[in-house]
Amino acid sequence: MIKRNIYKSVLGAIVASSMILASVPVMADTEVQKYTNTDFAMDTVVSETLYTTGDDLNASIGEKLREVETGLLSWTESDSQIAKINSADGKTVEVSDELAGYLRQICQLAEDSDGAFDPTLGQVIRLWDIEGENPHVPDQKELDALIENVNYKNIVLDGNKVTLKDGATLDLGAAGKGIGCDVTASYLKEQKDVTGMILNLGGSSVMAYGEKPDQSPWKVAVTDPRDTEGDYLGAITIKGGEFLSTSGDYEKFFMEDGKRYHHILDPKTGYPVWNGLTSVTVVCDNGLLADGLSTACFVLGLENAQALLEKYDADAAFVDEDKNVYLTSGMKERFELMKNTYTIKKIK
Ligand code: ADP
Ligand code: MG
Repeated sequence: MIKRNIYKSVLGAIVASSMILASVPVMADTEVQKYTNTDFAMDTVVSETLYTTGDDLNASIGEKLREVETGLLSWTESDSQIAKINSADGKTVEVSDELAGYLRQICQLAEDSDGAFDPTLGQVIRLWDIEGENPHVPDQKELDALIENVNYKNIVLDGNKVTLKDGATLDLGAAGKGIGCDVTASYLKEQKDVTGMILNLGGSSVMAYGEKPDQSPWKVAVTDPRDTEGDYLGAITIKGGEFLSTSGDYEKFFMEDGKRYHHILDPKTGYPVWNGLTSVTVVCDNGLLADGLSTACFVLGLENAQALLEKYDADAAFVDEDKNVYLTSGMKERFELMKNTYTIKKIK
């Protein structure tokens, strides 16, 4: 069994070096200054580039992201609101306006994707332990028993009151980094001095805010799913106010008998999704939705995902095992291919 610890150690090195360097201001023009920083939050590396006429806010943004994790989303921190819902044994729990709003968006997306995106996979995810110490193919009986309780309809929302069916477990892992991007975007809107920012959470969720001093576009690199440490597959242009998210079978996985067991699961079977896709990248105007949609589209597959993307007015790039890249019409204008081993194909 092979696990990708190299990735983690490289990330660790980046974090360690950034702690020594701290934020580095670079004069961009007479007024606006550029501050870059690398931090660790929401279980991932956070890269921040901020343009402002005021103070460097990168440290407070890192702090905000850690608060979202510990106060709202974490399933391990017993004080988080999600952990409280999970341990309520079917009783109703009152949550903050903020979390209630996110849960409404999440349940709507679960419904719109016909359950391809399902936030109640918690226990099934724990069983596979793909991100943990003992990733393994679970016993089928154990898996079947847990799948019984996987259904987004087991969440009942009534304003700020949340009732989760006893036995079901919430896991917002597929939307958490997107929520982190949304929280940052709202914070920046209150900061009058900030003119632009690009925030990248672990390479899989990105927020662009405002613009750069030279007004050149924000560009986000797309990882080659089968060459994650090598050259990028492409680049995608996004505007201030847009969010990008990638879900890929290369982010967290283990190999066994030549099969790739990865972290994006089909809620119907509890097994990793094997439909030929290796990654899906989505761009839209909301962080939670970009994140949730990339997971949902990965599960739905190329053809079934198109109606969902249209409904949310989102653009997407689908990459498959045969090294094809399928672009929605809106994505064609944004996407720049950087590797000639891949071919851009039409979506039928
Ligand atoms: P990442 O968090 O690595 O960027 P995703 O956004 O695609 O990747 O989220 C994957 C995570 O979401 C998994 O690690 C798991 O916690 C959870 N998850 C897996 N499959 C689903 C699914 N079908 N619906 C909702 N959440 C899922
Ligand atoms: Mg996601």
